[in-house]
Amino acid sequence: MNSPSRVVIEGCAIAVMDDALTEYSSGHLVIEGGSIVSIGAGAAPPLEPGIRRIDGSGCIATPGLVNCHHHLYQWLTRGRAQQSNLFEWLTELYPLWAHIDVDMQRAAARAGLTTLVRSGCSTTTDHHYVFPHGAGDLLEAAIAPAQELGVRFHPCRGSMDLGRTQGGLPPDEVTEDRDAILAATEGAIDTWHDPAAGSMLRIAVAPCSPFSVTAELMREAAELARARGVRLHTHLAETLEEQEFCVERFGVRPVEYLDELGWLGDDVWLAHCVHLSDSEIRRLAATGTGVAHCPTSNARLGAGAAPVASLTSAGAPVGLGVDGAASNEAGELGPEIRQAMLVARIKGGPAALTARGALALATRGGARCLGRDEIGSLEPDMQADVALWRIDELGHAGIEDPVAALVFGPPRPVEHLLVQGRTIVDRGEVVGADEASIAADLDKAARRLLDAAA
Ligand SMILES: [Zn+2]
Repeated sequence: MNSPSRVVIEGCAIAVMDDALTEYSSGHLVIEGGSIVSIGAGAAPPLEPGIRRIDGSGCIATPGLVNCHHHLYQWLTRGRAQQSNLFEWLTELYPLWAHIDVDMQRAAARAGLTTLVRSGCSTTTDHHYVFPHGAGDLLEAAIAPAQELGVRFHPCRGSMDLGRTQGGLPPDEVTEDRDAILAATEGAIDTWHDPAAGSMLRIAVAPCSPFSVTAELMREAAELARARGVRLHTHLAETLEEQEFCVERFGVRPVEYLDELGWLGDDVWLAHCVHLSDSEIRRLAATGTGVAHCPTSNARLGAGAAPVASLTSAGAPVGLGVDGAASNEAGELGPEIRQAMLVARIKGGPAALTARGALALATRGGARCLGRDEIGSLEPDMQADVALWRIDELGHAGIEDPVAALVFGPPRPVEHLLVQGRTIVDRGEVVGADEASIAADLDKAARRLLDAAA
């Protein structure tokens, strides 16, 4: 991976994704020390010789994409429970997940992260919530490949403490003791969390879901996160079955349940939020609670479609997530932009979500969900996380509006991806990643998991 101090990108269309939605039909970006120092129309101003230049002709530059929800370990269990709803799917997969180990996790993380960056993702989360006893340091096993690839990473220390014998959905063998969870979560913050501006690694506190976590753990997790200044993440309002579970067990709907637990706020983002009432949408917006919209996963599991247009017009932060690869076998973020736009239009008509609105979810909206104000747009002083997309090939040629070409046109791998000014995808190739060996390692790990669970 190179780390030149200065880089110039020129000759490309640019979607800045600032407040004014500034765009250039042909413009330039100058990057220095990992940040954007200037951006504008036309060619870059004269600069000293020897500076690295990236020819952006035939491309559109956008902010690097932000993936707000993922479970990297699920690369080990793709293609299963194909006709199942969420609870059936989980019930089939939990017993497999009970056997993951560090080597499997590393193989899955490499596969998942390589796929993400190839699809234009410069910042991603990973919500890991299965920690079998004696499995080793599964968090570190996902962090190391992220650092090798150079992707900005927000691993979320997940957890489950409500097993089947206590009325939860997961088998007891994949749950952990509450005190152990809180100690391990705090340990992860101590070891890994970097709060600095421009940080490449931040931890979030992330109990899994209302049907796999006790109210006590939810409350104590929120206390821990707030005492340590880290963000909170969980799954919420994904399916009607979850809503029924909450009404039966807690006497309230999922959003009300979180509200009672002190879990709404601008330091929280929630995966899914498919089933929301109008007053719940207003409550999420009023509290600044973010939503990670996962359109492909929600469609794959037949869960429904989140009310994205209502959430964004109410002012709630909304980002995009691929979700785990066991419910979105593709695992690519770029195509989720198009998917989000199309799903919103099925629900709300052709004006429900514009191409620019969909791109905003994957950039600014995601940055807001993760509490990052230095990524998500291409303005001066922002981090130099830049995606360059080719739009002069057969799939996009002749579409005059470059943003429409990118979003309406066929999803393609990113041409160049820079994170903090470093190139991590170069002409469609992920730097330092041998995709054939990553695929072979994943295949081996997936087979070993099946054998272990047999
Ligand atoms: Zn998920």
